[in-house]
Amino acid sequence: MDWRVRFVDYPEQWRRQRDELLPLIEGTLAAGDLMLRHQLSDFEKNLAEFNTSRRAVGVSNCTDGLRLLAHALDIGPGDEVVTVAHTFVATVSPFVLRGATPVFTDIGPDHLMDVEDLERKVTERTKVIIPVHLNGRTVDMLQVNRIALDAGATVLEDAAQALGATLDGQNAGTFGLASTYSFYPAKLLGAFGDGGAVLTDDEPLADRLLKLRDHGRVAKAEMDGWGYNCRLDNLQAAVLDWRLERLPKWIARRRELARRYDERLRDLPELDLPVGPNDDGRRYDVFQNYPVTTDARDRLAEHLRADGVETLISWPIPMHQQKGLDLQHWSLPRTEELCRRVLSLPLHPELDYDQVDIVADSIRRFFGAS
Ligand SMILES: *Cc1c(COP(=O)(O)O)cnc(C)c1O
Repeated sequence: MDWRVRFVDYPEQWRRQRDELLPLIEGTLAAGDLMLRHQLSDFEKNLAEFNTSRRAVGVSNCTDGLRLLAHALDIGPGDEVVTVAHTFVATVSPFVLRGATPVFTDIGPDHLMDVEDLERKVTERTKVIIPVHLNGRTVDMLQVNRIALDAGATVLEDAAQALGATLDGQNAGTFGLASTYSFYPAKLLGAFGDGGAVLTDDEPLADRLLKLRDHGRVAKAEMDGWGYNCRLDNLQAAVLDWRLERLPKWIARRRELARRYDERLRDLPELDLPVGPNDDGRRYDVFQNYPVTTDARDRLAEHLRADGVETLISWPIPMHQQKGLDLQHWSLPRTEELCRRVLSLPLHPELDYDQVDIVADSIRRFFGAS
């Protein structure tokens, strides 16, 4: 398919970055810096600083970051982990695979954890609460932390989609004990493959994670416990460090594009848009995605496709209705409704206004608007 507007545009991204990245990759390879070298520790230092966290630990992906945290917190059978079903399955799987019981809250109008439902769902068995800052928008962390404190639960933030987002001037990922990030290529800060990180202000926890990600090693041939192999590749770290420096600019670009969509589409009564970038005084949203909602979702997606516009339905089947996950006893009406109505439009830093207009014009024609 020859798209006029791609959902993400890796070839264009490479075209724009290759002249600077090729020498960087060449230099890293020529020096033989492949595993756990200074490029990784430099990136960890810069990433922690970027997010005003004390420490960052590079790991193989966000899922493994959560896996190491679940291990470090000794999560097991009998423990309840409360999160949303409107997220990627990876938010939940590391805890389920250790024997914990997942508990789900429904979502609010902005697609994020409904904190009133959270209040109802915590029990004396709640060990961990995982707010997910979906689409680059921060969950109401003041409420989450208050509820967690009352319940004696630990808060871990799934910030895979929210690097750089803030609430009341405070960075997403700095409200809980630790937060996890994904550097999957399509994420705000993407690698050339898998990558992730855990951020925390807790120094002993960070030290523990450093060991857990590398076989329990404290020196080359010395272990002080069992561990995993969940390292972040040094070459990926070198690329990520270069990209991290440019991330604020790319986030600003995402917000400009979101504003453009908002201006072009907000008069359509059949279509609900995300909160605009300048419409929430408490938040700086980073627009990992631009999800619109409409009853005519499937027909709209088909119409856009015919016009050469690639869109994405992240989770057409809600997690709790996936066969084989044993979650079918859950009823989450707003999550289920959103999964029927939501569609993500293309939004990435390589997009230009003309392309946004192609998308917006196509949507306007679909709804019969001029
Ligand atoms: C991408 C993503 C993950 C998983 O990240 P990986 O790096 O692929 O393991 C987890 N949670 C959310 C919300 C995500 O968007």
